[in-house]
Parts: sequence; C-alpha cells; structure tokens
Amino acid sequence: MLCEIQALRESLKASVAVLDTDVIDGSLAKQLVATFAEIERVAAAGKTLAMRRVESSGAWSTNGAASPAAWLANIAGTSIGAAHETLMIARSVDTLPETNTALRGGKLSAAQATEVVRAAAKDPGSEQRLLESARRDGLIGVKRESARVIAAVRDKDDQAEVAKRQRALRSLHFFRDAEGMECGSWRLEPKVGIVLRRRLEHDANNFFNAARKLGVRDTPENYLADALTALTEPAPAAAPVPGGPTDTHPNPNRTVDRATPSMFTENAIDRSTACAINTAGGQPPTAVKVEVNVVVDYEPLLRGYLLPGERCEIPGVGPIPIQQAREYLLGGAFLKVLIAKGIDIRTVCHIGRKIPAELNTALKYRDPVCAIAGCERTKGLERHHVQAIAANGETSLFNLRRVCDHHHDLFTHHNYTLGPPDHTGKCQLVPPLKRPPTKPPPPRK
Ligand SMILES: [Zn+2]
Repeated sequence: MLCEIQALRESLKASVAVLDTDVIDGSLAKQLVATFAEIERVAAAGKTLAMRRVESSGAWSTNGAASPAAWLANIAGTSIGAAHETLMIARSVDTLPETNTALRGGKLSAAQATEVVRAAAKDPGSEQRLLESARRDGLIGVKRESARVIAAVRDKDDQAEVAKRQRALRSLHFFRDAEGMECGSWRLEPKVGIVLRRRLEHDANNFFNAARKLGVRDTPENYLADALTALTEPAPAAAPVPGGPTDTHPNPNRTVDRATPSMFTENAIDRSTACAINTAGGQPPTAVKVEVNVVVDYEPLLRGYLLPGERCEIPGVGPIPIQQAREYLLGGAFLKVLIAKGIDIRTVCHIGRKIPAELNTALKYRDPVCAIAGCERTKGLERHHVQAIAANGETSLFNLRRVCDHHHDLFTHHNYTLGPPDHTGKCQLVPPLKRPPTKPPPPRK
C-alpha cells in the first residue's frame, strides 16, 4: 500500500511541477483549486489515521522525539498545537463512525474535523448535527455548533464549580512580534469579557462613523485596536459649556465616545479635524451604556438548563450559561433578550429600546455571517435592503440581510441582486443580466 501511495505522490508532484497557470482560463483554475483542496483533505485524513498507529506502536520515539505530537509537528512542519489536534482526532475517530466516513471521503478539513470531534467527544449524540453543520455552513458554522454543544454540556455542571474554574483560568499575556508590534492575548471570565468586548465594539463603531465622515476607511480590526488604544488615553478636557460646569478631570468610568487622533495619523489627516468632528458644539463625551444581547430559546429559559440543539448565546460571541441569561433578564439594565424558537424569532423582549434596535438585534442573530452562499465573512457586515427603499422596499426582517462590504458593493454599484434564501438561510449572488463594461472589482480583504 505504501508503494501505491508513494507512486500517487510522485505523479502529483510531476503534475504540479509543470503546472503553468498563466495559460489556463479562470474556470479551469477554479476546478484545479477545488481538486487540490479535496486532495489536501484526503491526505490529511490518511495522515491522521496512520498517526494513530504511530502513537500506539511507539514508533514515534525511535528518532528521539519527546512525544508523538513533537514527532508529528517536526515531520509535518506544523505547530505542536496543530499536532495535538491531529492526535485528538486520531484517538476519537474510531468511536465516531459517521465522522470516520466523512474524513476518509475527503468531506472534512482537518479544522472542521477538530471541531466535530471536540464537541462529539463530550456529547456523542451531536455528531450528525455537527457534520451537517460542517457540510452546510463550513468551518465557521461547525465552530458555532461545536461551541453550542460544549456549552450545553457545561450548562449541566455545577455552575458554582464552573465559575470557580473559569476564575482560575483568567490570564493575560503580552509578547512582541517580528514587526516590533506589542501583541497580547487574554482569557477573561465571560461576565467580564463580554462587557469589555461589547464596549470595544461600540467604540470601534464610533471610530468607523467618524472616519467615514472624513472619507477614511480602515478595517474593523483597525477600529477595534483604536478602541483599545483609546482606553489607555485620558479623556480630553471638555470645552467649557456656557453657564455649565467645566469638566476637566478624566473620568476612568467614562467610555470613549469620540475619535482619538491616533486612528488618523497613518492617514495623514489633521489631528484637530478629527477632534473637531467629535467635540463639535463643545459637548463633553457622554458615558456609554454597554448593551449585551442574548438570544435564548424559550423552553430552556423556563426550564433552567439546555438540552441538545437548544441555544442560549450572544450573537457574534457564542454560548453563555442559561443561568447567566436569567440573571441578565432579571437585572438587565442594558439587556436585550430575544426569545427564539429554532430559526424563527417569535418574541423580541426588549428593555427600554425601540423597534429599530430590536430589528437590528434580530438581524445580527439571523445573519451572523455574510448572507451570500459561500462567503464566511463575519466582520464589518452591512445591512442590505433586498428590495430597495426607493422601490418601496420596507425596513423589515424579511427585506433585510446582512452582507459583507464586498458583496454590498456589488449590489449597490454593480447591479448584482440577491437570490431567495435556500433551506440553510443563505442566498445566491445573482450577476446582472448585462455585465457592466468594467472589470469586476477585486475582492476586499
Ligand atoms: Zn460576503
């Protein structure tokens, strides 16, 4: 068998060696990419299955490797973390027959298989649902489903124990990368991390709006970094309001509701211009209420715990314990709870907010990724009216979809339209009948 596979490898190498992509058309190139991707998945499956035997036989140790993962990382040129994930799949795949078949058939990438196995190991009854999610929604979808399964299992644990465990896991690390940039990672208890995340997202949105007025457009990640930077900067002294108190003391509890100059320096926009926009009228920045949106199925909210397939999560963040949602519901000053049943939102329970905000929350819940089939963008999604307002399109959940800026641009400026949603909720991109004379725009990062 080894000779056969080695012969295939040599044949593949010979084909790639003479591959001249300058002389093939785009359609053939697409087929080549799809074929190579499938070969990659099949090869990953073969590597994973063989690795199980390398580990159980002890063959990894003969080269002086410290562990099976270290040996694999060295052979495959990957990180130890990636090697551990391969080993996790190798050890579990025998007990998951459908995953085994999908893996051998080249239907699952290594990253998808990791998510399926990680969750199915905790709840074997979820295997089929996870595989379906991988097939239908790709890696992002199966990651979301995997997080739900693990959260549902964790929900059955003693919540005091879970809180204690999470508290012990809190950490913050700094390091410096090759560009000399200060980097970091953190692990925070959900009740802290969710509020911090929402606050940064809120401030990043303000930076985005301020920059847009100046004709500047950076990435959502740039604006999140600006929001974090702003937390380290003292609030500016407020311009005196006639007849009012002068606010000259930075308030550590005051959330930034302004653009800081640091976000504009690279774009060479005058510092005073940026400040002027945000302090127009001499109004001091106001404190910002950080809003947390939770989507929870109706039955578990009453019952107090989750069953397989039910959800209790923050759109764009992930699952949270049902107990935490109940606490939010009881004391939720800044809370929006959407009570859902399956994919339909039956009731929107809103505390102190008006309809457009409810609609926005419902949209975020229904379209956590770009609504276009095959597109997995989750950042910087924009609202798109399927039937334009100018053509009497209404602002309703059914007439709105969230799409990435690239696809929104195709609708707005290149006459593309949105097909009806399929059974997964994703829509096809319909090109214009008469193609525009200009070349299609390059995809944005
Ligand atoms: Zn998209």
